[in-house]
Amino acid sequence: MDRPARVAVVGAGPAGFYAIEALLKNDVAVAVDLYNRFPPPYGLVRDGVAPDHQAIKSVTRIYEKLLARDEVRYLGNVTLGKDVSADELRSWYDMVVYAVGAQTDRRLWIDGEDLEGSYAATAFVGWYNGHPDYRDAEFDLSCEHVVVVGNGNVAIDVARILVLDLERLQTTDVSDHALAALRESRVKEVTLLGRRGPAQAAFTNKELKEFGQLDGVSVDVRSEDLDLDPVSQALVDSESVRTRNMKTLREFADASIEAGDRVVRFRFLVSPMEILGDDGRVSGVRVERNRLVEQDDGSMRPRGTGETETLGCGIVLRSVGYRGAPITGVAFDDRRGIIPNADGRVVGEDGSPLTGEYVVGWAKRGPSGVIGTNKADAAATVASMIEDLEGGTHLTADLDADPMRILRDRGVEVVDLEGWARLNAHESAAGEEQGRPRVKLCTVPEMLEVIRGGA
Ligand code: NAP
Repeated sequence: MDRPARVAVVGAGPAGFYAIEALLKNDVAVAVDLYNRFPPPYGLVRDGVAPDHQAIKSVTRIYEKLLARDEVRYLGNVTLGKDVSADELRSWYDMVVYAVGAQTDRRLWIDGEDLEGSYAATAFVGWYNGHPDYRDAEFDLSCEHVVVVGNGNVAIDVARILVLDLERLQTTDVSDHALAALRESRVKEVTLLGRRGPAQAAFTNKELKEFGQLDGVSVDVRSEDLDLDPVSQALVDSESVRTRNMKTLREFADASIEAGDRVVRFRFLVSPMEILGDDGRVSGVRVERNRLVEQDDGSMRPRGTGETETLGCGIVLRSVGYRGAPITGVAFDDRRGIIPNADGRVVGEDGSPLTGEYVVGWAKRGPSGVIGTNKADAAATVASMIEDLEGGTHLTADLDADPMRILRDRGVEVVDLEGWARLNAHESAAGEEQGRPRVKLCTVPEMLEVIRGGA
């Protein structure tokens, strides 16, 4: 190609930025338009990473530098499938990269899931992080016991936020509406339910250990839950994160529960069977005890023993994973909840690559891994893109089309880098006044008002 390849990256979260980073590191010249659904960039780093984990958020410094590059243009507040169609992107660009993440949550498919007080953990995360979709969500924290279903890092995050000292939380960028509700919270106990054993837990050790370092928080683990079968023991011995998790859980089991502390309790080998209600509100969870059964591939799956018990609680947070959502005009594998692909090349129903369409991050592999996982993941997709560009396999961009102008002409209030800088400065200044990293604006109209210079 005798001009820079025109590339659209859709989604300004970690996966999108690592795709841009990998593209810019190559010898092939590119001009990248980075689209994002909301005015501010950074995806789950802004809206997902827990507010008391600010150090993780410093990864945005790398993304800021990429945004400032001449080859990159930011188009925030543009939703694919609403403000712009997939067909339009395919006509305006030589290549389109979907970095759209996993926008919804997995369900448990049990009775009582829709009772008042049964919430997706992803919604709770969005709410305390000021994600515009959850600005108006309401979490009634007037109960004393919360059950969290799942043993991943999101389960750990939501449990920690529920028991965290407010002195600490109020120095973070937690949303103001969540801070106000957490001040009134009566929650004293949080129980995390793992359907498999401690050896199979998905959380990582740093996150687990943190419970032992929180003021006013005790951890309750039953020692008998830590007796492992030989297959689970071999798994623990083979992976250092699991070895460390077992060590931490044993320390928790040996420690005593301090009177007056809030308590985080771990229960393993239990599956929720039904969320129980009273007058339409959650009153408990009926769980079944599981045993582990070895599969042909050596993994351990839970199997119900028929033995059940009821845990009384006022809230159930379902933390069993995010899930991708389909976008009109973009291929989607409904079973796996991802954009179907081979080496990051989006494939059609017959499994053959769709020219010029690529995918990175959670939309490519499902909701797994930490932020850094997306770097190698994006680099692999970009390797496919470069191979295709060099081989002449790409779409043909309409060079007369200026997407920024077309979108603005049709009334889309596209937020460019300058607009984001204005919003960023506003939020940071408000944060500085309160000794916090930022005070987030949590609705798009409020954000746009600041960006327009109206506030
Ligand atoms: P996850 O790590 O995949 O954990 C999902 C959990 O839900 C697993 O324990 C899983 O158990 C359980 N589960 C699934 N279906 C279930 C069912 N029907 N009944 C009971 N339990 C069920 O997902 P996540 O916690 O949502 O996290 C998503 C990704 O973001 C992960 O890669 C995570 O590490 C990352 N993350 C990282 C951080 C951090 O680094 N601090 C913070 C938040 C999130 P099985 O194992 O038995 O399937």
